Amino acid sequence: MNKKMSITTKILIAMGIGLIVGSSLNSFASDSDFVQTYLVGGAFHVIGSMFINALKMLVVPLVTFSLICGVCGIGDVGMLGRVGLKSFLLYMLTTAMAISLALTVAILVGPGKDGDAAIIENTGYTAKDAPPLTDVFINIVPSNPINAFANGEMLQIIFFVILFAIAMLLSGNAGKSLASGIEKLNEVMMKVVTLVMDFAPIGVFCLMAKTFSEQGLGLILPMISYFSVVVICLLMHAFGTLNLLLISMAKLSPLVFFKKIRSAQIFAFSTASSNATIPITLQAVEKRMGVHNSIASFTVPFGATINMDGTAIMQGVATVFIANVYGIDLVLNQYLTIIGMSVLASIGTAGVPGVGLIMLAMVFNQVGLPVEGIGLILGVDRLLDMVRTAVNVTGDATVSCIVAAGENEIDMTVFNDPEAGIITDVPLPHKN
Ligand code: ASP
Repeated sequence: MNKKMSITTKILIAMGIGLIVGSSLNSFASDSDFVQTYLVGGAFHVIGSMFINALKMLVVPLVTFSLICGVCGIGDVGMLGRVGLKSFLLYMLTTAMAISLALTVAILVGPGKDGDAAIIENTGYTAKDAPPLTDVFINIVPSNPINAFANGEMLQIIFFVILFAIAMLLSGNAGKSLASGIEKLNEVMMKVVTLVMDFAPIGVFCLMAKTFSEQGLGLILPMISYFSVVVICLLMHAFGTLNLLLISMAKLSPLVFFKKIRSAQIFAFSTASSNATIPITLQAVEKRMGVHNSIASFTVPFGATINMDGTAIMQGVATVFIANVYGIDLVLNQYLTIIGMSVLASIGTAGVPGVGLIMLAMVFNQVGLPVEGIGLILGVDRLLDMVRTAVNVTGDATVSCIVAAGENEIDMTVFNDPEAGIITDVPLPHKN
């Protein structure tokens, strides 16, 4: 491979090859014991999972160091509150726009209206418990921060770290010398991210090959109406709504933005987890787009936890689809409940694979749709999870840029420089 090829290009190629290899294995070797045991369940599974673990390994230390640097960088509690409030409101706004778009398109297209009624059967789907909303708020405050760090509870970690960093600001010299040490730790941690990225092409190949050899594209066919409406809405949101917000609220070029967010989208797509993608989103937003660390260190992990535009879109379309399949007519009141519920539900659930379905069960319960209907869309959910996670991450980066532009904390020379922050292979040190 070309030495100068950027890591994103390599990962993109690996992703394509993984998709082709996986789909071919699904079509031609699905009953070969050898392929299933040693390749799909063996090499692909082991290397893919090691790679996801490596990404997750970065999240907690990176968010901690980066957020401390961010808060100390802002240095002003008033501005911190403003950034927090702005990003919270923008995240809620983009999610509400996403689900409204999904409901509108789904009502117009009417997936599941005719023909699909035949697919109703007892799917045997039982919903997992979703956290009650009151607990969501109570649990923002960790009763034991070590527990929060150990379990990767993102909202709790953010809460504790911000409090700790504010205390550092208030502690004079002690806080200052600690901050300079943590800045160095943050720099080193960013280097660890680039080291892990070196292995990304292999990791992404294995994840794609495994998913597609298990899923196969044939699964989509019986669900084509649902699947295509979700994908169309996801594309409309990513390239329409988010672009408009980027232009109107931040005066930034969506073309440059999309070029630079690509690596994070690819990671989100292959891992189906916005949480595991945090290190890459942070790298893209800070180093490639020039958003200052004081903003990005907060908005990116916060967004990965509370902002799920893509997930909300799936929920909107799924609700209309299931209602159509079961022949249930929804009224305006129920649509409004769906919008409110998905926005609230996205706050309480972390960005990990498949969580969208748990949230969907919450929405169904609330509007009185049969929860076992979710079983119908289960088969295609993994593929949709990948696409919607890429949209979730795009939303996080968009809001980060808008908040940064509003606070004058985006370096436009970095944003406009096509080469800024590009990762090529990291030369490993050798002793002579
Ligand atoms: N996998 C999604 C995410 O991590 C959540 C979901 O829609 O299931 O953002």
